[in-house]
Amino acid sequence: MRRFRNAKILATLGPSSDTPDVIRSLFEAGADVFRFNFSHGSHEDHRKRYQAVRALEREFEHPIGVLVDLQGPKLRVGVFEGGQATLEPGQSFRVDLSPAPGTAERANIPHPELFQALEPGTTILIDDGRIRLRADEVGPDYAVTEVEVGGEISDRKGFNVPDVILPLAALTEKDRRDLQFGLDLGCDWIALSFVQRPEDVAEARKLVGNRARVMSKLEKPSAIDHLEQIIELSDAVMVARGDLGVEMPPETVPGVQKQIVRASRRAGKPVVVATQMLDSMISAAQPTRAEASDVATAVYDGADAVMLSGETAAGKYPTESVTMMSRIIRQVEKDPLYRSLLDSGQHDPEATAADAITAAARQVAETMRAAAVVTYTTSGSTALRAARERPSVPILCLTPNTKTAQQLTVAWGVHTVVTEDATNINDMVERAGELSQTLDFAQPGDRLVVTAGVPFGTPGATNLLRIFWVEA
Ligand code: PGA
Ligand code: MN
Repeated sequence: MRRFRNAKILATLGPSSDTPDVIRSLFEAGADVFRFNFSHGSHEDHRKRYQAVRALEREFEHPIGVLVDLQGPKLRVGVFEGGQATLEPGQSFRVDLSPAPGTAERANIPHPELFQALEPGTTILIDDGRIRLRADEVGPDYAVTEVEVGGEISDRKGFNVPDVILPLAALTEKDRRDLQFGLDLGCDWIALSFVQRPEDVAEARKLVGNRARVMSKLEKPSAIDHLEQIIELSDAVMVARGDLGVEMPPETVPGVQKQIVRASRRAGKPVVVATQMLDSMISAAQPTRAEASDVATAVYDGADAVMLSGETAAGKYPTESVTMMSRIIRQVEKDPLYRSLLDSGQHDPEATAADAITAAARQVAETMRAAAVVTYTTSGSTALRAARERPSVPILCLTPNTKTAQQLTVAWGVHTVVTEDATNINDMVERAGELSQTLDFAQPGDRLVVTAGVPFGTPGATNLLRIFWVEA
């Protein structure tokens, strides 16, 4: 099987998409990668989902990506007498480390790191920014705040402190357990939540090793301040607009999204645009036109992938959401404007053999109207450089490595097939020709452009470009 689009779709699994039947229908509708959100669900839930995804992969003989998304150091308030309290604007409100249940006058915040970092004037946002507090007086284990925006506060609501870097470990104890579990399952990608500094990525990377790839979720202003370095240290990034849009004013999110997409494309690292993309489809069979436009914008900008969260995890229309996303992507990719917008965000090749070859492959393929660029890759790095070129012809990637195939599912325009390494040039050409035909990328008489590394089977040695005609 093959998909007829470049931008990929990530679908989050959850209570609405827990059964093998629904997972199958999401895949058939177009999900390329499944996201396992470790903020919810037990290890047993995730294991069952994982088995269903891999069973599907075997049945369709088509690589599917599994992204384990760690909760990260998400901050939460404590509990309240009667479960909730109402805060009035202008009132004084104390927050402290005492575990006693909260009232309308004070609440427990069980994070000592917060009190180390707070200063008078610092803003605390509760429940996705619905409630806003400003610290007035700060002690070692308490703060007295003024309620700027009031409302109802309830047990264990999340909160954000956008203005400061908190001295929090990048991974909590729970994250470490979830990480180990996810790696043991065989996940392809690990997503890190609330990355604050480049060192957070480096630390996680040490634990992950080469068992999976690391995707940094950009949802803190401090991560945007260190964007280039974080991209450099990550294998991919996510524009996590949910928390980013709480930490930063909403009007800044579109510009930051474009900045991240552009910087990632320059670096040749996959970039995923996420959250609220088709949000109203959680309860309606149709998206709003503004949502359709939001998905389209990410695709016009050249993002590698777009993501569904609540729509597929907890909504009433999980499959319809994937179908809709796929339709929007395909419509954009048919638009002649798409090509010129994509080209305007294009960066020059770097001074490496892999870039020289993949840039040349793109040019040759476009000049000769080839049916596809075929790249042989072991680690996947050449395929990512080929994707960085955003060619107007499909990229068929051939790899002997199943893990590489699964990891490349997030990358723009890359269709991967697991096959043995070529043994010589004839074998390379024949194999590329045969697989292109079987998978419907080419017909007899079509031209193909192939890149590979000689000697064959040596990773990181892309140095060969070959043009040939497909024979029946
Ligand atoms: P989350 O991350 O869904 O895990 O919060 C994405 C986001 O914040 O946008
Ligand atoms: Mn988030």
